[in-house]
Amino acid sequence: MIVLNLLCRHQHRFEGWFASAEAFGDQQERGLVTCPVCNNAEVSRLPSGPRVISSSAAKDAAEHESVAAVQAQLRDAIKAYVRESENVGPRFPNEARKIHYKEAPARNIRGIATLEETRDLLDEGIVVVPLMVPPSEETH
Ligand SMILES: [Zn+2]
Repeated sequence: MIVLNLLCRHQHRFEGWFASAEAFGDQQERGLVTCPVCNNAEVSRLPSGPRVISSSAAKDAAEHESVAAVQAQLRDAIKAYVRESENVGPRFPNEARKIHYKEAPARNIRGIATLEETRDLLDEGIVVVPLMVPPSEETH
């Protein structure tokens, strides 16, 4: 079992688990390797070397059904989160801080924060999860 670092056409990085590099090449050619974020099938390998997974880790993965199923679950979870959270846009760092210090009602929010702002929030002990949301999810 190997883990490859992959990149889709929309610059989403993700990991793919394959039986071998040949298995990846074969699945890629048939368009079976898709980005977990945007479902794009134009996937390329990043130059970093593949990681070899020990048999016990491979077994763990097998117990979590197929990787594709896990990726689909993740995608659904992100969609549900986006649907249920309030979009505060660029006010995100402020709102996250207000909620953390109980100056605003506790709720799920999403929005835009720079890398630096995200780092500051994490430094203050505020849990921030970076999500890559396909643009299409934002429009409807
Ligand atoms: Zn993508």
